[in-house]
Amino acid sequence: MKTITYSKNIFIPVTDLCRNRCGYCSFRKDLKEAHLITRSHALRLMEEGSIAGCSEALLTMGEMPWTVPGFSRMLYSEKVSDLMDYLVELSELAIELGLLPHTNAGLLDEDDLCRLQPYNASMGLMLETTARVEAHARSPGKDPGLRLQYIALAGRLRIPFTTGILVGIGESWQDRLDSLQKIAQLHHEFGHIQEVIIQPLDPKMGTPSELWPRPAMNELCRTVEAAGKILPQDVAIQVPPNLVQPLALLSSGASDLGGISPVTPDHINPHRPWPEEKALEEKLKDYCLRERLPVYPRFISLGWHGSRTDRLVSRLAGSDGLRAKKYIF
Ligand code: SF4
Repeated sequence: MKTITYSKNIFIPVTDLCRNRCGYCSFRKDLKEAHLITRSHALRLMEEGSIAGCSEALLTMGEMPWTVPGFSRMLYSEKVSDLMDYLVELSELAIELGLLPHTNAGLLDEDDLCRLQPYNASMGLMLETTARVEAHARSPGKDPGLRLQYIALAGRLRIPFTTGILVGIGESWQDRLDSLQKIAQLHHEFGHIQEVIIQPLDPKMGTPSELWPRPAMNELCRTVEAAGKILPQDVAIQVPPNLVQPLALLSSGASDLGGISPVTPDHINPHRPWPEEKALEEKLKDYCLRERLPVYPRFISLGWHGSRTDRLVSRLAGSDGLRAKKYIF
């Protein structure tokens, strides 16, 4: 029976302020409406996640919010002067509560990435596409060269890494193959890619993408099949089960369902609720569904997870590196 993995997480939207304006995004807010999560809100989510048996705190935010005038006032309201200090503090809190941080903070410089590395079991950044698409015309951070450089930097630093492609944002079939090939090359060079997400566009009302077509299932299956041929065998192919029915994609070669939360919504796709674990088990009864940690087993063996997560990883991982069936907080 083929094993399909997933992790149990809470989604912590650190801030929705972002320097980019992607054509399909409903997460980003202008300064007047934007938020920085308060300590008390983050703590409440983490406590709920811990009680619900989650193992992952997914810390996500808009890119380089500090370049937007006015952000320093938001930071000041939480009595911090530097967002990296705040991310470290939130990560320490998560670890104390039994949750392994996985941060996706957009593009960071090397010093900031090094600062966060010890507190993260793994980290991530979607490549999305190597093509220059209209949806990214107002998003300097979506420059494909910059994103590839960042993923390479994470590789040099030996950070277990999650990336992926976004399907249906104006890229061609050849662009998709090119994106997957670039990810494969980076993995051949650095060996740090743990999973590649094949994420379909979910058009949002009120965004320029509102009337764009949602990728068809046969197109997604074809993309997963192509990923299986292009990516090295040790890189998992992930599909999000709140955006697409996973069965056909698992038959096409996907092997992971990503983070599923019993506590928090998918703030990037807020109208797409997570399936419940029981319902997934029932739907995928021909597969062996196993919970994993936000870091994949081989990176635990290599010791690449962040040094500050070491004790917690040892407590949560079973002998096979996936989540232990019984664990003690
Ligand atoms: S998709 Fe991400 S990078 Fe693009 S505008 Fe939204 S928050 Fe910013």
